[in-house]
Amino acid sequence: MSLKGKTAIITGSNSGIGLGIARELAKAGADVVINSFTDRDEDHALASRIAQDHGVAARYIQADMSDPEACRMLIDKAESCDILVNNAGIQHVAPIDEFPTEKWDAIIAINLSSAFHTTAAALPLMRAAGWGRVVNIASAHGLTASPFKSAYIAAKHGIVGMSKTVALETAQEPITCNAICPGYVLTPLVEAQIPATMEKYDMGREEVIKKVMLERQPSKEFATVEQLGGTVVFLCSDAAAQITGTTISVDGGWTAL
Ligand code: NAD
Repeated sequence: MSLKGKTAIITGSNSGIGLGIARELAKAGADVVINSFTDRDEDHALASRIAQDHGVAARYIQADMSDPEACRMLIDKAESCDILVNNAGIQHVAPIDEFPTEKWDAIIAINLSSAFHTTAAALPLMRAAGWGRVVNIASAHGLTASPFKSAYIAAKHGIVGMSKTVALETAQEPITCNAICPGYVLTPLVEAQIPATMEKYDMGREEVIKKVMLERQPSKEFATVEQLGGTVVFLCSDAAAQITGTTISVDGGWTAL
């Protein structure tokens, strides 16, 4: 399957799942725009590396996904957007009565509202090009809940709902919108949760991974960024042209429980 001639914009893609998705899309031939809120030499170097490795055009565009104007500016600056992957996300864990308001606001802005703004800006470009794919990176927590993650779970359920609405609004056009729901993937976001969990449960790293983090993931394996990228590439294929308004779980059986 070749995505040659298509431009993909992946939000929050200077690390983790977003970077993995950008690499898999570039491997399939798409030109890619990677993004985060920083503007460091190493961010631009990541884009150069992708271009070099896969023979595609790759750019890094700095835009803070907590800022509505910056979300829309990212799409405007890219100039074309055939594939939009809304991936940027942050996490904070606390009981709801202790959950800091600024953390709630930041999670809703970055994990949910940014996708509203980027999608609104990208759809006219997809319509002009006569083809488009919107892929929202939700979570198993877009379908189920866990304690202490109120903002994250609200945002992820929200993005699943928004994906269905966008799918209905584009149903009679060659544009699809879906959400991917990963279980645990070992990325910096998850790595950052390990020390506190080790302390909380008084366990070593491996024990925390298998018994606590992967407790609800029946495969007892992390999903990988390559598997997530491969799922996005599949959703961009002709085989997936009638897949719209739904979720695809990549969670080792979590939501089958
Ligand atoms: P990560 O921390 O490695 O990556 C998050 C990305 O978002 C980074 O590139 C970061 O720079 C970017 N980002 C954060 N704030 C931003 C902002 N204000 N503006 C622009 N970019 C910003 O985490 P990850 O695990 O790769 O997570 C990526 C997505 O996958 C998130 O939406 C997350 O909720 C989702 N997810 C992750 C897992 C997992 O187990 N890792 C599971 C399910 C869903």
